[in-house]
Amino acid sequence: MSSYIFGHTTPDSDSIVGAISLSYLKNQLGEETTPTRQGEVNPETAFILNKFGYEAPELKTSYAGEDVYLIDFMESSQSPEDINEANILGIVDHHKLGDLKTAAPLEMWVRPVGCSNTIVKQMFDYHGIEIPKELAGMMMCAILSDTVIFKSPTCTKEDTKACKELAAIAGVEDYKALGMEMFIVKSDVLSATKRELVLRDFKDFEMGGNKIGVGQLEVVDLSVFDEMKQELFEAMSELKAEGERHSVLLLLTDIMQEGSQLLVLSNEADKINHAFEVTLEDKQVWLPKVMSRKKQIIPFLEKQF
Ligand code: MG
Ligand code: MG
Ligand code: MG
Repeated sequence: MSSYIFGHTTPDSDSIVGAISLSYLKNQLGEETTPTRQGEVNPETAFILNKFGYEAPELKTSYAGEDVYLIDFMESSQSPEDINEANILGIVDHHKLGDLKTAAPLEMWVRPVGCSNTIVKQMFDYHGIEIPKELAGMMMCAILSDTVIFKSPTCTKEDTKACKELAAIAGVEDYKALGMEMFIVKSDVLSATKRELVLRDFKDFEMGGNKIGVGQLEVVDLSVFDEMKQELFEAMSELKAEGERHSVLLLLTDIMQEGSQLLVLSNEADKINHAFEVTLEDKQVWLPKVMSRKKQIIPFLEKQF
């Protein structure tokens, strides 16, 4: 019976490509696996799949009774609802230790690098399995996406090394230019509804009994949001009420200026002020040098809550 490999809810490129790359590796090792996804493919990921000629993995949101591998997450809040009824065979991830429990020993590849696909690349090397050209191209793009073309503070030497090796396999010379092309696709925020934008890269976290949702949009020029801030706040407000969330935060990251405008709706705005040692004005603040949700936002919120 095939096991399933999937990434987090509202999947990003690392989650989708990671499911495909890890599944390919497992299949080469003689294990039958199927890559799946928990949600819609975002425009950046669609660009990558299209560029390298791959189909999106099948959509599957229920896994009771199934054998599964998780990639790019290990939090129940980012899992399918019936994850506790699934048998977790393994986890490949680059996030903080989550709250999932298993009944049996499992395979874990968890490392503090910038991208899950960097770890998958290391797994290919460990097992001595060759990576097909087109798959290498997709893995390279996932690394460029997660590390914001190496600008994110989460980026390590291992990520740049893996990315360069994958670029060589893929035959892509100017991988930074391809990364930029990808972020320009990502910057097209005009063809989506405000709700879709807030949810495009959105994650919920449990902190001290509170549900905190944090979204992020990475663009090459922040001015695209100038005219739509109020509508973004309205969409955030809806999500806050619907999900009974304590807070909804949205990071508008400018990858050229290398910083983020943080929009905040919170039952305790003071805690947000304390977390980042700032004073919100008009429910927002500019955070210079802040580009990473997992490294520069979540740990400081955790401390406050
Ligand atoms: Mg991810
Ligand atoms: Mg990732
Ligand atoms: Mg990201």
